[in-house]
Amino acid sequence: MLNTNSEYLRPEIMDVLRAFGAEDENFTHYYSYSDGKFYNCIEYDGKFYDYENEFSTEDALVFRRFAKRYCKLAFYSTLSAVKGVKLPWGALTGIRPTKLAYAELAAGRDFSLLFKQLCVDESNISLVGEVIKSQKDIYACRGATDLYVSLPFCPTRCEYCSFVTAPVSAVGKYIPQYLDCLQREISRLKNIFSAPASVYVGGGTPFVLDLCSLERVYAAIQSAFGQGFEYTVEAGRPDVFDEQKLKLSRGYGVNRICVNPQSFNDKTLEKIGRKHTAAQTLEAYAMAEKYGFIINLDLIAGLADESVSDFEQSLKTAISLSPANITVHTLSLKCGSRLKESVKRLNIGGINQMISLSRDMLSSAGYVPYYLYRQKYQAGGLENVGWCKPGTACAYNVRVMEEISDNVAVGSGAISKKFFGEENRIERLASPKDIPSYLAKCEKIISDREKLFK
Ligand code: SF4
Repeated sequence: MLNTNSEYLRPEIMDVLRAFGAEDENFTHYYSYSDGKFYNCIEYDGKFYDYENEFSTEDALVFRRFAKRYCKLAFYSTLSAVKGVKLPWGALTGIRPTKLAYAELAAGRDFSLLFKQLCVDESNISLVGEVIKSQKDIYACRGATDLYVSLPFCPTRCEYCSFVTAPVSAVGKYIPQYLDCLQREISRLKNIFSAPASVYVGGGTPFVLDLCSLERVYAAIQSAFGQGFEYTVEAGRPDVFDEQKLKLSRGYGVNRICVNPQSFNDKTLEKIGRKHTAAQTLEAYAMAEKYGFIINLDLIAGLADESVSDFEQSLKTAISLSPANITVHTLSLKCGSRLKESVKRLNIGGINQMISLSRDMLSSAGYVPYYLYRQKYQAGGLENVGWCKPGTACAYNVRVMEEISDNVAVGSGAISKKFFGEENRIERLASPKDIPSYLAKCEKIISDREKLFK
């Protein structure tokens, strides 16, 4: 339980407590500012920890930013000392590492100085530097328009899933009507922009749709925008792949496909409710390869009691296939996940080793990190990293993560983002997550989006 005399600092403090798994412990926090100094006093387990930092500015926004920064650092220092643990990202929470680094660079400062002040470890500072280097060309072209199409349907729900998606057995009856709304949304996008820089069809598991339904989605996109752009389909779980869907996708101009094994360990796959095997992933991969797609494979570190060597084995298998892209996620335990309750049994030390192993193995195999993000409930406060062979980065992923383009998103649970380049800010517009509400509000969603983007 946290008591603080400054409620606006609570979210920042909770981010740090969560990173240490200390969100249920008792802390009392006193904050004040006087004579050009921030004061943070933390009472924990009968002891007091005092911090003071000199700072003054006339700018209210900058003042708040530094008040938050020093408060987080105070909690990080206290917890790190009493628990005897250093976190790889230190007190850097609540903002994407690359976003903060870009802001520092734009202000003419070396981002590594701030990262060191926030106690980020050296390997993560280098990682951010490498990501920024890989993104250089894509980042330079800010202000594009990308299209996201949401297909929130899956064969079954995985144990760890926190996405807005549902099994087709429960929501399959809505699919025809859902596709009607999606078509209506897509056909009206011409009022907003004439050509997308990239299209990303995500889920869910888009390939869970039958051939005719999938074709309706592709045909709607083609009729609005033709072909010829970067076009990704997060096809998804290997048990829904087949030749016809791949051929159809290629015919409509799809050039990138995600095959998501998560693990190549059959026992793990069974435990997390994936209902497919490693052999099916290999079959799906071979099928996708035949059609010449740029393939991304997703792996997750920290799944269902996996050991470091289990994870290493999956990584070796993924690398042996030589896909253009490999994304390594750390298990995220958001509120939507049924695994949240089991967070305590996660072996955080082991997950740290997995992540460090992935960096070594992927770098040695010729991959470079090209995008990076962290989520609030990520095991060990770690990160997700997209790796690619040079020249194969998915520009959509970079632009959406760094928020440097308009992202026009259709479908239920989709979040459109309007990028205001000069002010370097984003405005969001979210569609209802539950499908019946989405269907009922389709026309309003279209008109709200037109207002945002026009
Ligand atoms: S396949 Fe992906 S989106 Fe679908 S339930 Fe599993 S984790 Fe969630």
